[in-house]
Amino acid sequence: MTDCIFCKIVDQEIPSYKVYEDDQVYAFLDITQVTKGHTLLIPKKHVTDIFDYEPELAGEIFARVPKIARALEQAFPEMQGLNIINNNKELAYQSVFHSHIHLIPRYGKSDDFSIHFGNNQEAYSPVEMQEIAEKIMKQVK
Ligand code: AMP
Ligand code: ZN
Repeated sequence: MTDCIFCKIVDQEIPSYKVYEDDQVYAFLDITQVTKGHTLLIPKKHVTDIFDYEPELAGEIFARVPKIARALEQAFPEMQGLNIINNNKELAYQSVFHSHIHLIPRYGKSDDFSIHFGNNQEAYSPVEMQEIAEKIMKQVK
């Protein structure tokens, strides 16, 4: 795609700090380095977001996640955990519309990453939970 910053990175039209590359994927340091080693894994093919993947390409990209995760673990033995994040659409914090997976090494509770998981368990009865599950299940194709 001509006006996509990540396509330009894949095509070496703009520079990046490359971590890994093969025929399907490219991995490079996120410029913001939320934590040391913060890496983005992207398909070389332009895919806008998770809703845009063919199953084969999804398999190719997700198959590379453990490879990069293990490389980070080996590179930074002080790493204590790893958050893997994939934002989809603006509301969900996607700011570059070429799909990418963030790998964010964690070094301690006071490193510069945080995430909030609310707990709304009390808002749903077992019947409502079942209805929600069935509503989704009917759409899985
Ligand atoms: P998201 O907000 O999930 O769409 O993530 C996009 C990420 O791309 C952000 O974390 C940015 O810091 C990162 N980013 C944007 N431009 C570049 C670039 N030229 N090189 C490396 N990372 C970039
Ligand atoms: Zn692109």
